[in-house]
Amino acid sequence: MTSLDSWQQLLSHTIDDPAELIRLLDLPETLVAPAREAAKGFPLRVPMPYLRRIEKGNPDDPLLKQVLPLVTETRKVTGFVADPLSEAQYNPHQGIVHKYKGRVLLIMTGACAINCRYCFRRHFPYDENRLGPEQWQTMLNYLRTDSSIEEVILSGGDPLAVSDNRLQRLVNDLSTIRHLKRLRIHSRLPVVIPERVTPELLKILNESRLQTTLVLHVNHGNEIDETVGHALNALRDARITLLNQAVLLRGINDSVPALKHLNESLFGWGVLPYYLFVLDPVDGAAHFDIPDAEAQKLVTQLQAQLPGYLVPKLAREIPDRPSKTVLPTVTS
Ligand code: SF4
Repeated sequence: MTSLDSWQQLLSHTIDDPAELIRLLDLPETLVAPAREAAKGFPLRVPMPYLRRIEKGNPDDPLLKQVLPLVTETRKVTGFVADPLSEAQYNPHQGIVHKYKGRVLLIMTGACAINCRYCFRRHFPYDENRLGPEQWQTMLNYLRTDSSIEEVILSGGDPLAVSDNRLQRLVNDLSTIRHLKRLRIHSRLPVVIPERVTPELLKILNESRLQTTLVLHVNHGNEIDETVGHALNALRDARITLLNQAVLLRGINDSVPALKHLNESLFGWGVLPYYLFVLDPVDGAAHFDIPDAEAQKLVTQLQAQLPGYLVPKLAREIPDRPSKTVLPTVTS
Protein backbone atom coordinates (compact mmCIF):
# COMPACT_ATOMS: atom_id res chain seq x y z
CA MET A 1 0.00 0.00 0.00
CA THR A 2 1.27 3.45 -0.84
CA SER A 3 -0.30 6.72 0.29
CA LEU A 4 -1.74 9.17 -2.24
CA ASP A 5 1.19 11.52 -1.88
CA SER A 6 3.88 8.83 -1.80
CA TRP A 7 6.62 9.18 -4.39
CA GLN A 8 5.34 6.12 -6.20
CA GLN A 9 1.87 7.66 -6.56
CA LEU A 10 3.30 10.99 -7.64
CA LEU A 11 5.48 9.20 -10.19
CA SER A 12 2.61 7.23 -11.66
CA HIS A 13 0.17 10.18 -11.77
CA THR A 14 2.08 12.73 -13.79
CA ILE A 15 0.46 15.22 -16.17
CA ASP A 16 0.83 13.70 -19.65
CA ASP A 17 -1.91 15.51 -21.57
CA PRO A 18 -1.02 18.99 -22.91
CA ALA A 19 -4.65 20.14 -22.55
CA GLU A 20 -4.60 19.32 -18.85
CA LEU A 21 -1.29 21.11 -18.33
CA ILE A 22 -2.58 24.21 -20.11
CA ARG A 23 -5.83 24.15 -18.11
CA LEU A 24 -4.14 23.68 -14.74
CA LEU A 25 -1.77 26.57 -15.45
CA ASP A 26 -4.39 28.99 -16.86
CA LEU A 27 -2.54 29.25 -20.15
CA PRO A 28 -4.01 30.10 -23.58
CA GLU A 29 -5.77 27.18 -25.24
CA THR A 30 -3.96 27.99 -28.49
CA LEU A 31 -0.92 26.25 -26.97
CA VAL A 32 -2.70 22.88 -26.85
CA ALA A 33 -2.64 21.84 -30.54
CA PRO A 34 1.08 22.57 -31.11
CA ALA A 35 1.96 20.89 -27.82
CA ARG A 36 0.04 17.77 -28.87
CA GLU A 37 1.82 17.72 -32.20
CA ALA A 38 5.28 18.03 -30.60
CA ALA A 39 4.44 15.51 -27.88
CA LYS A 40 4.02 12.79 -30.53
CA GLY A 41 7.82 12.73 -30.87
CA PHE A 42 8.59 12.97 -27.15
CA PRO A 43 5.69 12.84 -24.69
CA LEU A 44 4.80 15.48 -22.15
CA ARG A 45 5.44 14.38 -18.56
CA VAL A 46 5.27 16.67 -15.52
CA PRO A 47 4.87 15.55 -11.90
CA MET A 48 2.54 17.54 -9.64
CA PRO A 49 5.16 18.78 -7.15
CA TYR A 50 7.06 20.37 -10.05
CA LEU A 51 3.91 21.74 -11.66
CA ARG A 52 3.03 23.56 -8.44
CA ARG A 53 6.23 25.62 -8.78
CA ILE A 54 5.21 26.96 -12.21
CA GLU A 55 3.61 30.40 -12.15
CA LYS A 56 0.02 30.26 -13.39
CA GLY A 57 -0.81 32.33 -16.46
CA ASN A 58 2.84 32.88 -17.38
CA PRO A 59 3.80 31.26 -20.72
CA ASP A 60 7.39 32.42 -20.15
CA ASP A 61 7.85 30.67 -16.81
CA PRO A 62 11.36 29.11 -16.83
CA LEU A 63 10.08 25.82 -15.42
CA LEU A 64 7.20 25.63 -17.90
CA LYS A 65 9.62 26.15 -20.80
CA GLN A 66 11.56 23.05 -19.75
CA VAL A 67 8.50 20.82 -20.13
CA LEU A 68 6.03 22.34 -22.59
CA PRO A 69 6.26 20.70 -26.04
CA LEU A 70 6.55 23.30 -28.82
CA VAL A 71 5.95 22.79 -32.52
CA THR A 72 9.45 24.14 -33.22
CA GLU A 73 10.74 20.79 -31.91
CA THR A 74 9.41 19.09 -35.03
CA ARG A 75 11.63 21.14 -37.38
CA LYS A 76 14.85 19.55 -38.57
CA VAL A 77 17.96 21.64 -37.92
CA THR A 78 21.31 20.77 -39.49
CA GLY A 79 23.73 19.35 -36.93
CA PHE A 80 21.03 18.33 -34.44
CA VAL A 81 20.83 14.55 -34.36
CA ALA A 82 19.25 11.64 -32.49
CA ASP A 83 22.44 10.56 -30.67
CA PRO A 84 24.53 13.72 -30.21
CA LEU A 85 27.07 12.06 -27.90
CA SER A 86 27.51 8.95 -30.08
CA GLU A 87 26.62 6.77 -27.10
CA ALA A 88 25.73 3.86 -29.40
CA GLN A 89 29.45 3.24 -30.02
CA TYR A 90 30.20 2.98 -26.28
CA ASN A 91 27.41 0.49 -25.51
CA PRO A 92 29.23 -2.88 -25.11
CA HIS A 93 26.25 -4.64 -23.51
CA GLN A 94 22.62 -3.83 -22.84
CA GLY A 95 22.34 -1.18 -20.13
CA ILE A 96 26.06 -0.30 -20.10
CA VAL A 97 27.74 2.80 -21.51
CA HIS A 98 31.52 2.67 -21.05
CA LYS A 99 33.09 5.80 -22.40
CA TYR A 100 35.53 7.21 -19.87
CA LYS A 101 38.39 5.39 -18.20
CA GLY A 102 37.64 4.07 -14.73
CA ARG A 103 33.94 4.87 -14.90
CA VAL A 104 30.99 2.92 -16.23
CA LEU A 105 27.50 4.22 -16.67
CA LEU A 106 24.50 1.95 -16.10
CA ILE A 107 21.15 2.68 -17.71
CA MET A 108 18.94 1.60 -14.81
CA THR A 109 15.62 2.45 -16.46
CA GLY A 110 14.14 4.43 -19.31
CA ALA A 111 11.59 5.99 -16.96
CA CYS A 112 11.77 9.60 -15.83
CA ALA A 113 9.54 11.61 -13.53
CA ILE A 114 9.67 14.51 -15.94
CA ASN A 115 10.37 14.81 -19.64
CA CYS A 116 12.80 17.66 -20.23
CA ARG A 117 12.46 18.97 -23.75
CA TYR A 118 16.23 19.48 -24.18
CA CYS A 119 17.20 15.97 -22.98
CA PHE A 120 20.10 14.53 -25.00
CA ARG A 121 18.60 11.07 -24.49
CA ARG A 122 15.16 11.98 -25.80
CA HIS A 123 15.70 9.48 -28.64
CA PHE A 124 17.73 6.91 -26.67
CA PRO A 125 16.84 3.27 -27.46
CA TYR A 126 15.81 2.36 -23.90
CA ASP A 127 13.97 -0.75 -25.10
CA GLU A 128 17.29 -2.16 -26.34
CA ASN A 129 18.98 -1.39 -23.03
CA ARG A 130 16.78 -3.11 -20.49
CA LEU A 131 18.63 -4.67 -17.56
CA GLY A 132 16.66 -7.90 -17.25
CA PRO A 133 17.95 -10.78 -15.07
CA GLU A 134 20.31 -12.06 -17.79
CA GLN A 135 21.68 -8.60 -18.64
CA TRP A 136 22.07 -7.89 -14.92
CA GLN A 137 24.50 -10.80 -14.60
CA THR A 138 26.31 -9.75 -17.79
CA MET A 139 26.65 -6.27 -16.34
CA LEU A 140 28.05 -7.57 -13.05
CA ASN A 141 30.54 -9.80 -14.89
CA TYR A 142 31.62 -6.87 -17.02
CA LEU A 143 32.32 -4.82 -13.90
CA ARG A 144 34.03 -7.70 -12.11
CA THR A 145 36.43 -8.50 -14.91
CA ASP A 146 37.72 -4.96 -15.47
CA SER A 147 39.64 -3.91 -12.39
CA SER A 148 40.31 -0.46 -13.86
CA ILE A 149 36.67 0.45 -13.14
CA GLU A 150 36.48 2.29 -9.83
CA GLU A 151 33.23 4.17 -10.20
CA VAL A 152 29.74 3.21 -11.30
CA ILE A 153 27.37 5.92 -12.44
CA LEU A 154 23.66 5.22 -12.29
CA SER A 155 21.83 7.00 -15.05
CA GLY A 156 18.73 6.59 -17.14
CA GLY A 157 16.09 7.73 -17.54
CA ASP A 158 16.16 8.47 -13.86
CA PRO A 159 17.82 5.76 -11.74
CA LEU A 160 15.83 6.78 -8.65
CA ALA A 161 12.63 5.90 -10.52
CA VAL A 162 13.37 2.25 -9.70
CA SER A 163 12.05 0.65 -6.53
CA ASP A 164 14.06 0.66 -3.32
CA ASN A 165 14.30 -3.14 -3.55
CA ARG A 166 15.95 -2.97 -6.96
CA LEU A 167 18.23 -0.19 -5.87
CA GLN A 168 19.21 -2.03 -2.71
CA ARG A 169 19.97 -5.15 -4.71
CA LEU A 170 22.15 -3.23 -7.10
CA VAL A 171 24.04 -1.46 -4.32
CA ASN A 172 24.56 -4.80 -2.58
CA ASP A 173 25.81 -6.45 -5.76
CA LEU A 174 28.14 -3.57 -6.57
CA SER A 175 29.51 -3.58 -3.02
CA THR A 176 30.79 -7.12 -3.53
CA ILE A 177 33.11 -5.97 -6.35
CA ARG A 178 36.28 -5.10 -4.53
CA HIS A 179 37.79 -2.65 -7.00
CA LEU A 180 34.68 -0.42 -7.03
CA LYS A 181 35.13 2.60 -4.77
CA ARG A 182 32.51 5.09 -5.74
CA LEU A 183 28.84 5.19 -6.67
CA ARG A 184 27.46 8.19 -8.47
CA ILE A 185 23.75 8.72 -9.06
CA HIS A 186 22.53 11.19 -11.65
CA SER A 187 18.96 12.04 -10.80
CA ARG A 188 16.39 14.76 -11.15
CA LEU A 189 13.89 13.00 -8.86
CA PRO A 190 14.87 14.61 -5.53
CA VAL A 191 14.11 17.96 -7.18
CA VAL A 192 11.01 17.18 -9.22
CA ILE A 193 9.45 14.80 -6.64
CA PRO A 194 11.27 15.51 -3.36
CA GLU A 195 9.04 12.90 -1.68
CA ARG A 196 11.42 10.37 -3.29
CA VAL A 197 13.91 11.10 -0.52
CA THR A 198 12.51 8.61 1.98
CA PRO A 199 14.13 7.15 5.10
CA GLU A 200 14.47 3.88 3.14
CA LEU A 201 16.40 5.56 0.34
CA LEU A 202 18.64 7.40 2.79
CA LYS A 203 19.38 4.11 4.55
CA ILE A 204 20.36 2.35 1.31
CA LEU A 205 22.72 5.14 0.31
CA ASN A 206 24.11 5.80 3.77
CA GLU A 207 24.89 2.17 4.56
CA SER A 208 26.72 1.37 1.36
CA ARG A 209 30.47 0.91 1.63
CA LEU A 210 30.76 2.80 -1.67
CA GLN A 211 31.41 6.51 -1.41
CA THR A 212 28.17 7.96 -2.76
CA THR A 213 27.60 11.17 -4.70
CA LEU A 214 24.28 12.41 -5.97
CA VAL A 215 24.51 14.64 -9.01
CA LEU A 216 21.32 16.65 -9.28
CA HIS A 217 20.06 18.37 -12.37
CA VAL A 218 18.61 21.80 -11.65
CA ASN A 219 18.54 24.53 -14.29
CA HIS A 220 16.71 27.36 -12.54
CA GLY A 221 16.57 28.61 -8.97
CA ASN A 222 12.75 28.44 -8.96
CA GLU A 223 13.02 24.64 -9.07
CA ILE A 224 14.22 24.65 -5.47
CA ASP A 225 11.50 25.33 -2.92
CA GLU A 226 11.47 24.58 0.81
CA THR A 227 10.32 20.98 0.30
CA VAL A 228 13.17 20.32 -2.10
CA GLY A 229 15.54 22.05 0.31
CA HIS A 230 14.51 19.79 3.18
CA ALA A 231 15.02 16.71 0.98
CA LEU A 232 18.51 17.99 0.15
CA ASN A 233 19.23 18.54 3.83
CA ALA A 234 18.21 14.96 4.58
CA LEU A 235 20.59 13.68 1.89
CA ARG A 236 23.42 15.73 3.34
CA ASP A 237 22.65 14.44 6.81
CA ALA A 238 23.02 10.93 5.35
CA ARG A 239 26.56 11.90 4.25
CA ILE A 240 25.77 11.99 0.54
CA THR A 241 27.90 14.43 -1.47
CA LEU A 242 25.61 16.71 -3.48
CA LEU A 243 26.62 18.26 -6.79
CA ASN A 244 24.60 19.90 -9.53
CA GLN A 245 24.89 19.95 -13.25
CA ALA A 246 22.78 22.29 -15.31
CA VAL A 247 22.30 22.94 -19.00
CA LEU A 248 22.51 26.47 -20.36
CA LEU A 249 19.16 26.99 -22.06
CA ARG A 250 17.88 29.86 -24.20
CA GLY A 251 14.98 31.64 -22.51
CA ILE A 252 15.39 29.70 -19.24
CA ASN A 253 18.68 30.50 -17.53
CA ASP A 254 20.65 32.51 -20.11
CA SER A 255 21.28 35.58 -17.97
CA VAL A 256 23.69 36.44 -15.18
CA PRO A 257 20.87 37.09 -12.63
CA ALA A 258 19.27 33.69 -13.43
CA LEU A 259 22.58 31.83 -13.09
CA LYS A 260 23.46 33.71 -9.91
CA HIS A 261 20.07 32.85 -8.41
CA LEU A 262 20.46 29.20 -9.39
CA ASN A 263 23.93 28.71 -7.95
CA GLU A 264 23.27 30.67 -4.76
CA SER A 265 20.06 28.70 -4.19
CA LEU A 266 21.89 25.41 -4.70
CA PHE A 267 24.66 26.31 -2.31
CA GLY A 268 22.13 27.62 0.22
CA TRP A 269 20.92 24.02 0.52
CA GLY A 270 24.39 22.49 0.49
CA VAL A 271 24.74 21.60 -3.21
CA LEU A 272 27.94 22.51 -5.05
CA PRO A 273 27.58 23.73 -8.65
CA TYR A 274 29.60 21.27 -10.74
CA TYR A 275 28.99 21.65 -14.48
CA LEU A 276 27.07 24.07 -16.66
CA PHE A 277 26.77 22.28 -19.99
CA VAL A 278 26.23 23.92 -23.32
CA LEU A 279 23.38 22.17 -25.10
CA ASP A 280 24.04 18.79 -26.65
CA PRO A 281 22.80 19.07 -30.24
CA VAL A 282 19.89 16.68 -29.99
CA ASP A 283 17.18 16.65 -32.62
CA GLY A 284 14.19 18.67 -31.38
CA ALA A 285 16.05 20.99 -29.00
CA ALA A 286 17.77 23.49 -31.31
CA HIS A 287 15.64 26.39 -30.05
CA PHE A 288 17.38 26.12 -26.65
CA ASP A 289 20.86 26.48 -28.13
CA ILE A 290 23.25 29.29 -27.14
CA PRO A 291 26.45 29.99 -29.10
CA ASP A 292 29.68 29.19 -27.26
CA ALA A 293 30.88 32.81 -27.33
CA GLU A 294 27.71 33.98 -25.58
CA ALA A 295 27.93 31.15 -23.03
CA GLN A 296 31.57 31.98 -22.29
CA LYS A 297 30.76 35.66 -21.83
CA LEU A 298 27.92 34.84 -19.43
CA VAL A 299 30.14 32.65 -17.27
CA THR A 300 32.91 35.26 -17.30
CA GLN A 301 30.40 37.83 -16.04
CA LEU A 302 29.17 35.37 -13.43
CA GLN A 303 32.72 34.89 -12.19
CA ALA A 304 32.92 38.63 -11.56
CA GLN A 305 29.92 38.39 -9.23
CA LEU A 306 30.38 35.13 -7.32
CA PRO A 307 33.17 33.35 -5.48
CA GLY A 308 34.84 30.65 -7.59
CA TYR A 309 33.16 27.75 -5.77
CA LEU A 310 29.74 29.04 -6.85
CA VAL A 311 30.62 29.12 -10.54
CA PRO A 312 30.19 25.79 -12.33
CA LYS A 313 32.59 24.71 -15.05
CA LEU A 314 31.22 25.59 -18.47
CA ALA A 315 31.65 22.41 -20.48
CA ARG A 316 30.60 20.36 -23.44
CA GLU A 317 30.73 16.68 -24.11
CA ILE A 318 32.43 15.88 -27.40
CA PRO A 319 32.23 12.30 -28.67
CA ASP A 320 35.67 10.57 -28.80
CA ARG A 321 37.29 12.85 -26.21
CA PRO A 322 38.55 11.12 -23.04
CA SER A 323 36.78 13.63 -20.75
CA LYS A 324 34.41 16.58 -20.81
CA THR A 325 35.80 19.65 -22.57
CA VAL A 326 35.86 22.78 -20.40
CA LEU A 327 35.29 26.01 -22.34
CA PRO A 328 37.60 28.87 -21.37
CA THR A 329 36.30 32.16 -20.05
CA VAL A 330 36.85 35.30 -22.11
CA THR A 331 38.48 38.64 -21.38
CA SER A 332 35.65 40.95 -22.45
S1 SF4 B 1 17.00 11.73 -18.42
FE1 SF4 B 1 17.11 13.54 -17.09
S2 SF4 B 1 17.16 15.28 -18.50
FE2 SF4 B 1 16.43 13.50 -19.66
S3 SF4 B 1 14.20 13.64 -19.55
FE3 SF4 B 1 14.89 12.30 -17.88
S4 SF4 B 1 15.08 13.68 -16.11
FE4 SF4 B 1 15.01 14.98 -17.93
